[in-house]
Amino acid sequence: MGNMKEHKPSKKPLVYYCIVVAVIMLLLNSTVFPMLMEAQVIEVGYNEFLQMVDAGKVKQVARSEGEGMITFLALDDAGRERVFKTGIWPDETLMERLTNADVEFAEAIPTQSSPLLTFLLTWILPILIFAALGQFMMRRLQNGGIGPNAMSFGKANAKIYVEAQTGKTFADVAGEDEAKEALTEIVDFLHKPSKYTRIGARLPKGALLVGPPGTGKTLLAKAVAGEAQVPFFSISGSEFVEMFVGMGAAKVRDLFKQANEKAPCIVFIDEIDTIGKKRENGLGGNDEREQTLNQLLTEMDGFDGKNGVVILAATNRPDSLDPALLRPGRFDRRIPVELPDLKGREEILKVHAKDVHMAENIDYNAIARATSGASGAELANIVNEAALRAVRMGRSVVEQADLEESVEVVIAGYQRKNAVISEKEKKIVAYHEIGHALVAAKQSDSAPVHKITIVPRTSGALGYTMQVEEGEHFLMSREEAFNKLATLTGGRVAEELIFESATTGASNDIEQATRLARAMVTRYGMSDRFGMVALETVENAYLGGDTSLACSQETAAIVDHEVVEMVKEAQKKARKILSENMEALHRLSKYLLEKETITGEEFMQMLNQQA
Ligand code: ADP
Ligand code: MG
Ligand code: ZN
Repeated sequence: MGNMKEHKPSKKPLVYYCIVVAVIMLLLNSTVFPMLMEAQVIEVGYNEFLQMVDAGKVKQVARSEGEGMITFLALDDAGRERVFKTGIWPDETLMERLTNADVEFAEAIPTQSSPLLTFLLTWILPILIFAALGQFMMRRLQNGGIGPNAMSFGKANAKIYVEAQTGKTFADVAGEDEAKEALTEIVDFLHKPSKYTRIGARLPKGALLVGPPGTGKTLLAKAVAGEAQVPFFSISGSEFVEMFVGMGAAKVRDLFKQANEKAPCIVFIDEIDTIGKKRENGLGGNDEREQTLNQLLTEMDGFDGKNGVVILAATNRPDSLDPALLRPGRFDRRIPVELPDLKGREEILKVHAKDVHMAENIDYNAIARATSGASGAELANIVNEAALRAVRMGRSVVEQADLEESVEVVIAGYQRKNAVISEKEKKIVAYHEIGHALVAAKQSDSAPVHKITIVPRTSGALGYTMQVEEGEHFLMSREEAFNKLATLTGGRVAEELIFESATTGASNDIEQATRLARAMVTRYGMSDRFGMVALETVENAYLGGDTSLACSQETAAIVDHEVVEMVKEAQKKARKILSENMEALHRLSKYLLEKETITGEEFMQMLNQQA
């Protein structure tokens, strides 16, 4: 996928390059070349020389007094002219022989017999060596610098990922219509910057995608680049933070330098909160992070929006970002990427189902309704789990049942097929689950039960009641909230009514009920005692939503008391409902014990049979 690393061209390697080439040339000149040329001169014995003269093969002859040698040009056995040499012997007949053979006396005989070879050796070869070494160095540079040795120490080896084309478009992002709309302007700007610059309009330099994990922020950023057909520089915030102070800042400088060269383009900084956290004074400050952040701020101020570099960033903890990042001229646009609603979930399922062989009559809406609160990533996972299950079952298409099962897998873990549970425990679980379902069904405001199962899950749940909202709910009335509390307590209440004991199986219910009751008192203003006073504040709304108390200790004690009362009240209501429907509780529990899994329709049928 056009993935390529770019590196800051470093000046150091050039020096090494020159030195290496120079050394090689020196070696060649002092040893190899002379040897090569020497090899051109053939040394022969004196008697052989005389024979050659007599045979008339010798053309020229020269004496080199200093070396005590005779060099001569003669025809070799193959009839080619070669340079020979031999030693000088006291020989009076030589002059006569030479004249008889008609040999020319020469001043000197050039030893380099082949001017072409000389030319090749002294001119072409060095150039070839230069070129080959250069190629080699270039390749090494591209493959991650000179390697992790001393030479690269202290240098910013920024691994900036550039994708020429991300290959993603808005069509790959389902739902998130608001976010897409906000981003289309940026796409348009990158596409035809002149349209904006003509008027003098300046586009926001940066947009911040904010939302819970897995909602498609990274995907959206890629889609923007894909739609605008511009290069996509991406780097994760954590990559900036290095062990050595100053490197992160160097990387930021690098990133913006490269981006400016490739404009128009998109620079995407994922998980920006790792560098963009609020700077603090005093102890525990992180020098490296602060320097990096400062550099980022400087770079963002440095370029004007006209050259077409748009910075996108993503985070799921916007409240922890440094305010300086958020001021106009930097990330002045904040684009919420929220968890998908019912329609969005259905669309996301469909987008991911496209890559999978699906049966024809899949009811995506039913799956979407059963996955309220799931993120896009989780939905993608559900589709994949369903495909895996279809393969396990030996089928070639994914069916509704696969999707339903994988919803449960993602929500509650895998079925624990061979977990052995005693009859007694199974019975308790059945009553517990029917207790939940019955309380839910008898309160008109509660959502109808979708499915009840007592097949144990690897997550530890021994059974569960899946409740599906009929439509999308954004608001919960005080009555609905209270009914939900009653439903949550229904499981434990059924156990108490039938077995006159309590088990640990209700721990999750208790947790949920407490959280809901607490929120009703401290945040939703649903208690008579406090009314509309916020007693808690939420931190990290996108990551679980931890809360911290914002009231005095005395008030906190009263809050605790109020929460206890509210849960008790709900428990009372559940007890009343179940007591009045004892017969149905027994009948349905028996049925569930037999079947292990029953659907919501079966449940409602059984419930209405006798009534
Ligand atoms: P984030 O960056 O918000 O944590 P990602 O963009 O990495 O989430 O999303 C993870 C995966 O979830 C994506 O690759 C995609 O398969 C899927 N996904 C998330 N949201 C959507 C969506 N709106 N439409 C389609 N797929 C989605
Ligand atoms: Mg992401
Ligand atoms: Zn329960």
